Amino acid sequence: MDDDTHKPKIAISGCIIGQQVRYDGALKHFADIHQFLLQHAELIPVCPEVEIGLSVPRPAVQLTGSPQRPAMTGRDNPALDISPQMYAFCKHKPLLLSGICGYVFKSKSPSCGIRNIPVFDHGEIISTNNRGLFAQAMFDHYPELPIIDETLLTTDPQRHQFLQQVLNYCHNRPTTSA
Ligand code: SF4
Repeated sequence: MDDDTHKPKIAISGCIIGQQVRYDGALKHFADIHQFLLQHAELIPVCPEVEIGLSVPRPAVQLTGSPQRPAMTGRDNPALDISPQMYAFCKHKPLLLSGICGYVFKSKSPSCGIRNIPVFDHGEIISTNNRGLFAQAMFDHYPELPIIDETLLTTDPQRHQFLQQVLNYCHNRPTTSA
């Protein structure tokens, strides 16, 4: 068994490492990325939607309303509004992740996506530049933290470059507990 004691901690969207947490109940395991990261880091899986109490499977959600402070509502049922739970999670969860040195988010998610997440208003896309709500919260709390998504970890050079950023962050930041 690997000794993770001296490895940097990296948070990661749980679905990337094969946890069955996606809204549709499907598995999307990125095995290559998972194996690479396991060799070099202690992984801390996070699924915002499951951690606020949603089930698997569950109704798909999307960002709606104002791009400045989007709501999170049901894709097929606009009356389903989980914004209060998700914004409460966004407030407290980052504080619990102060010991991490990097974060690998799942792309294209209204919770985890780090770029190009659409915001809808009455069925029309009014912005394509948002981040998922929890990803945005992590950028806000930890502006210097190395944050990436799985689409930018497909090659060895990309993976090693991210790992180096993680190690540099670990080395340079003030000491914290996990
Ligand atoms: S993208 Fe984020 S919210 Fe969606 S299943 Fe993966 S970890 Fe959970």
